[in-house]
Amino acid sequence: MNMDNLKNYCLRCEFETNHRVIANKDYRSDNDEYDYSINYMIVECLGCERISFREDYCDIESAYLNEIGEWIPEITIEIFPKKVRTSKSLQNSHILPSKIKTVYNEAIKAYNAECFILSGVAFRAIIEAICLDNDIAGNNLQKKINNMVKKKLITERESKRLHSIRFMGNDSVHEMKVPNESSLKIVFYIIEHLLNNLYLIDYTSKNHLETIINEYSEFEKLLKNSITTFEKDEEIPLARILGKKVRRLNGRLSDFDEELKSKIELNEFTLLRIGKVDVFGNSNKQVQHYIITK
Ligand SMILES: [Zn+2]
Repeated sequence: MNMDNLKNYCLRCEFETNHRVIANKDYRSDNDEYDYSINYMIVECLGCERISFREDYCDIESAYLNEIGEWIPEITIEIFPKKVRTSKSLQNSHILPSKIKTVYNEAIKAYNAECFILSGVAFRAIIEAICLDNDIAGNNLQKKINNMVKKKLITERESKRLHSIRFMGNDSVHEMKVPNESSLKIVFYIIEHLLNNLYLIDYTSKNHLETIINEYSEFEKLLKNSITTFEKDEEIPLARILGKKVRRLNGRLSDFDEELKSKIELNEFTLLRIGKVDVFGNSNKQVQHYIITK
C-alpha cells in the first residue's frame, strides 16, 4: 500500500476500509517535559468516498522496545465524526410525548459519546418519564414500576426487565459504577421495545392496518370515507354503508348509530338524512336507514 493510504474506520461503510490521505499536517510537541506528536489528516474512503478527519496522537515517551529492537510508540487514533454506536432505530419517534422524546434523544447521544454512566442514568430517566406521562403514582421508581403493572400498562415480565434497568441506573447515580457496553445495548433494546409498545406501534399501524375505533370522531371519519361510494338518495342502514369496516367498531355500532342520529337532528352531520326504520337484506330485524344527501 502506498504511504498516502491507510486503514480507517468508515462511517458509511461501517467497517475498516482503505482510505486515501487527502491532506495532513504533522505537529511535534514543543514541550520540553513531554515529547509527543500529532498527525492531523483528512482522509477519504476508497470505497464510498466518505470524508473523515483523523488524529493520530503518538506518545513518544511511552515508546517501548519490541523483540527486534525497534522503539514502538503508543498511538491513539481518533476519528471525526465519531463512530455511531447506535442509530435511532425507532420509527416515528417524533410522535413520542416531548418529555420522553427529550430523554430518549439524550440517552442516545450519551451512549454514542461513550458516556456510559450518563447513559445508565438516562435510561432510568426514560422509565420515570413514561410514568410521568401516564400518571403513575409512587414515591420511588420501584413502586412506580409495580404500579405500571397494576394499571396494565406493562406485563409482569416486562416489569422485571424495567427493574433491572432501575438497578443499573441506581448504580450509575449513587455509586458511579460504569455499566458495560453489552448491558447497555440490551437496555437500549428493552427501552425501545417498551416505547414501541406504548406509543409507536398503534400510530404506525393506523396508516397500514385496520385498527379498532373507540372514538366517535374516528367513526365519523370512517363514515365520511365510506359514504362517497354510494349514490345520492340511496336509503340504507349504517351497517350497509360501512360494509366490512363495521368490524372496526368492535361491537359498538348501535352506540355510534344513536350518536349519529342526534348529530343529524342537530344539523351537525349533513351528509345523511334520517330515513325509515325497516328490515334490510335477508334479516328480519328492524334497523334505522339513512338517506345519502349529496
Ligand atoms: Zn466507506
